[in-house]
Amino acid sequence: MSTLLKQHRLKMTTLRHYLLGVLQQSSGHLSPEDLYREIKSTCPSASLSAIYRNLDEFVRAGIIGVIETDDRQRHYFACASHCGTQHHHHFVCIECKAVTPVFQCVSEAMADHVSSELHGKVLSHFFQINGLCQPCISQDETR
Ligand SMILES: [Zn+2]
Ligand SMILES: [Zn+2]
Ligand SMILES: [Zn+2]
Repeated sequence: MSTLLKQHRLKMTTLRHYLLGVLQQSSGHLSPEDLYREIKSTCPSASLSAIYRNLDEFVRAGIIGVIETDDRQRHYFACASHCGTQHHHHFVCIECKAVTPVFQCVSEAMADHVSSELHGKVLSHFFQINGLCQPCISQDETR
């Protein structure tokens, strides 16, 4: 955890320590408010604005990932430690909020289309896959 921060030249602070701890223990995504609620008891000096700022820094450093919920909120999860560094996208379960890395990518077909149809060039891409994970599907069936 601290090596991750060192790699990205971020100083380990108490707040960062607890933020990363909570994120790494969760298999799902969390809102800044969720994190604030989790951290408040162990780190009473934490403020919501400091949490927002640190989350942004973590995202920029590539330590954590961000997904957008249906109501356009940004939620966070421990991307680097859960998914690794290989190029991937995220499969987000809309029911249990689990985030699973997907190592398949459609960027080649997309880049071909952009160059042949739009005569442009793809430099980066972003997408998120929403759905139901296997445990949530079986739970639905037994209901
Ligand atoms: Zn990831
Ligand atoms: Zn699920
Ligand atoms: Zn991709």
